[in-house]
Formats: sequence, structure tokens, C-alpha cells
Amino acid sequence: MIRCDGDFITAGLINTHHHLFQWMTRGRCTGCDLFGWLVELYPVWGRLDVEDVRAAALVGLGELALTGCTTAADHHYLVPRGDDSVFDALAEGARTIGIRMHLARGSMDLGESRGGLPPDHVVEDVDAILASTQSVIERHHDGERIVVTVAPCSPFSVSPELMRESAALARRHGLRLHTHLAETLDEERDTLERFGRRPVELLGDLEWIAGDVWVAHGIHFDDGEVARLGAVGTGVAHCPSSNGRLGAGMCRVVDLEAAGAPVGLGVDGVASNEVGGLQPEIRQALYTARQRAGRADALMPQDVLRLATEGGARCLGRDDVGRLEPGCRGDVVVWPGDDLADVPDPLAGFALGPDRRARHVLVDGEAVVRDGELVGADMRALRRDLAERARRLWP
Ligand SMILES: [Zn+2]
Repeated sequence: MIRCDGDFITAGLINTHHHLFQWMTRGRCTGCDLFGWLVELYPVWGRLDVEDVRAAALVGLGELALTGCTTAADHHYLVPRGDDSVFDALAEGARTIGIRMHLARGSMDLGESRGGLPPDHVVEDVDAILASTQSVIERHHDGERIVVTVAPCSPFSVSPELMRESAALARRHGLRLHTHLAETLDEERDTLERFGRRPVELLGDLEWIAGDVWVAHGIHFDDGEVARLGAVGTGVAHCPSSNGRLGAGMCRVVDLEAAGAPVGLGVDGVASNEVGGLQPEIRQALYTARQRAGRADALMPQDVLRLATEGGARCLGRDDVGRLEPGCRGDVVVWPGDDLADVPDPLAGFALGPDRRARHVLVDGEAVVRDGELVGADMRALRRDLAERARRLWP
């Protein structure tokens, strides 16, 4: 039995975009924009081994669970030396912590020598990517606790051929597609220079503007693009802290939802977020939407909770999570409310008030956080292991 006197309850939160491995490189390149940050960090990420990724994933997933997340998408696009057992480590991490994972087999095939941004030694070739993706699907996809997604990284690190082949592979298996899109104006300039098209036009030509796709960031859309995404139901993972840290811009969350596009929240990798908790993104998303609109009622507490739950579920193509309703899975978060007794509406306190950690978290009715501690792992030990590994990465 769980007592909840004075506490309040929500559906489990849903994280729609992450790069768990990036916890290994927190606190670096603190004044860089996206391209500068990536160019500094790609070579370091290229040195990560599977055990480094496992250590980062356990801390990252633990932090998500402790901040009320019960379903998390992870976009893993770095597979140094082609060792795709890194996806086994990520899936095992989700089982250890006890939350659902949408495991996005990311990929990059466009190295510097062919006009891409990443150095050649961190990219793979198309055939190897597709064979590995097929294998990851066979090894891990169960459609419920581990859901595999096909996820070439970004317009400036993948070839059109990889985008097309990835879409065909995903659609053969009935799986969803994910990528980064319209994160920065640098990306927009890059696709205009190389293809003569804006990022959305480019993805449309590659059959990626569709209802089985959700994209990360989705900041630099014009009105026609917002309408197009809404009409077909392409989802957007809004990552406000990461966007703020990198100075990328502010997502048109309100316009996208009004047009019909699913919008969820994402922490993004912790190297561009530094926090890694999902609950703090709720306040950040509310503030960002109000700043962008210049209106204090642009996004209300109930709206931003919807993004963090139902909106995320829609992005991930799920109708069994994100709501506290009969027929949905038993993903429930009990939040401490003792500091909010003076606030008339607990939801206002939750969205506008201080950062909050879950008291109890249930996934499918099973406790994964009890009394503010992980059930399946010791967070202090996980953090210690990660710190020792992270220090070894830097000269
Ligand atoms: Zn990202």
C-alpha cells in the first residue's frame, strides 16, 4: 500500500528526446552554439566504449525516473568501431531502472570529407547501419517495454540515401522514425546551400514529413511548414533547456499544437541541458512559450502537463500511456505536495514552483522509485562510476 496524504498524483511523464551517452560530457563547451559544440564533442564521443555508455545510461535513466518519467526515448547515433552492442547496454539500462524505453537506433553516414559536420571516424556506412538497425529490431523490439525506432541523426550528418533507406526499413516493420530537424539557423543555411531547399522541404522530398515521424527541436518553421506538419501529424520533441543553453531559438509549441501536430517534451542530451530531469522541463517549456508569444497566458500549467504526458505519448505513437484512465497502463507518479499547502491549485505549484522529485513512481503498477529512491539501483554508486569514467576522457 502507498499512502499519499497531502501528495498529488499525475500520469507518468514521457521524455521524447535524449542522448543518454552525453552524460559523459556534461559541463563542456559552455559558450558554444550547436555546430561549435558538436565539433568540440564529436571526437570525445568517438572515444566512448560500451561500458561508458552503459554508465551514462544508468545515471540518465535513473535521473529521469526520479523526476517522474516512466517512458523515455533515447536517440543514440554514435556507434564507434561499429560495435552496436551499445544498444544492448541501453536496453539493459532501461530494464535495470525499470522504465519503458523507445530505443532510437541513430546513425550518421556523412563525414567531413563528404560535406558533413562530423569527423569521418565517427560515421558508419549505409549498409552497416541498415544491417545493424535490422539486428537491433530483432534483438530488442517488443512493442511495449522496449520499442525500437529508426533514427538517422540530422540533415548535416546523414545522406539522402540513408534517410530514404531508413524510412523504408522502418515502414516495413511498422516502426516510427525520428531525427533532428530545424534546430538552428546554421542548419537551415546548410541545407539551402547543399540542396537549395529548406529543412522541411528536404525531409518532405525524402518522405519524412508524415504521421509516423517525430522530430527533435522543430524551431525554425515558417507558417506554411507549421501547417504542413500539423496536417500530416508529424510530432515535435520540444527541448527548451537545451535550446536555451545552445541559443538555438524557441519552438512554436502553441502554433504547432493548434495546427494539429503532436508536441512532447524532451530533456535532450545532458551535455546541452546539464540537468537531465524531466520535471524541470515543465517550467522551462511554460516560460519559453510565454516569452516567445509575449503573452502570459500562451501556455498554462494544464497545457504544459499535457505536453509532458499525452503529447509525448502521441509523438511516440502510443495510446496506452500518458493518461490516468481505465485501459491505460499503470504508470503513475506520486509527487510530494507538503510544500504546496499554501498554493490553491497544486498544478500551478507543480508547473510554476520549485523543481520537484517524485516520491513514488510506478511503471505498469510496479514500483521503480519508492520514497524518493530508485528501487533497481543505487544512484550514488551509479554517479560515482560515471564520474570516474568521465574524468578519464579528458587529458
Ligand atoms: Zn538531440
